[in-house]
Amino acid sequence: MNQAETLQYLIQLSHELGREDRHLAILGEGNVSADLADGTFYVKASGSQLATIEADGFTRVNPLPIFKALEHSDKTDERVRAVLEDCRVDKKAKLPSVETFLHAICLKEGGAKWVGHAHPVSVLQILCSQLGAEPFRRHIFPDAIVVCGRRLAVVPYVDPGIRLALALRKSLRRFIGEHGAAPKVILMVNHGPVVLGQTERDVLNTMLMLDKWASILVGNYAIGRPQFLEEKSSDRIENRPDEHYRRGVIGRLK
Ligand SMILES: [Zn+2]
Repeated sequence: MNQAETLQYLIQLSHELGREDRHLAILGEGNVSADLADGTFYVKASGSQLATIEADGFTRVNPLPIFKALEHSDKTDERVRAVLEDCRVDKKAKLPSVETFLHAICLKEGGAKWVGHAHPVSVLQILCSQLGAEPFRRHIFPDAIVVCGRRLAVVPYVDPGIRLALALRKSLRRFIGEHGAAPKVILMVNHGPVVLGQTERDVLNTMLMLDKWASILVGNYAIGRPQFLEEKSSDRIENRPDEHYRRGVIGRLK
């Protein structure tokens, strides 16, 4: 896929995630990114809205200054702004989102080709409760295992921006160390989910399934307690060959 095609799919993915009836993101909430074959990536520019974004709402980013900044001890607002200005491939492009650090980590360390972050009402009803990410540690129905993954990574609440990106990297590395592969979903407590996908369709499907899962959990807690699946049942779904097949059939957005 060439750069122009990637950009078109990014716009479509943004519009799908920003759809008002889906309650995944409103106003300037949420952001998306996609890896380009040359090592750079597209990410949503600061101030753009997912629902209405067009090509000029994305900025192509060189990840090198981003990763240098993650190691640098100076993480002041001025320094972060200078890095965001510096990482633009086209210096006339808009300033990339402050969550560019997080996207760079998911694309370069998390094995994702496409990344989507939103603030779904359903998921935040849980992540902003006293239970935090706990209800997502066990599964309640098979499709969430197939689409969202057997296990999700969790990041405690941290101020959005470079510090959040560092906390996410720590969680991602620990997850990969424990499970041998990156998660498809990273839950940021009191904030929202990040989805790591292989295609734009993969990101949308995963976000929609996570939203459904969360809505069901909220209903479960309202009328009693969730009836969690046994761990061995969840493991079996994860390892079934037909489920691997289903996982592979995800296609692209039209
Ligand atoms: Zn956010």
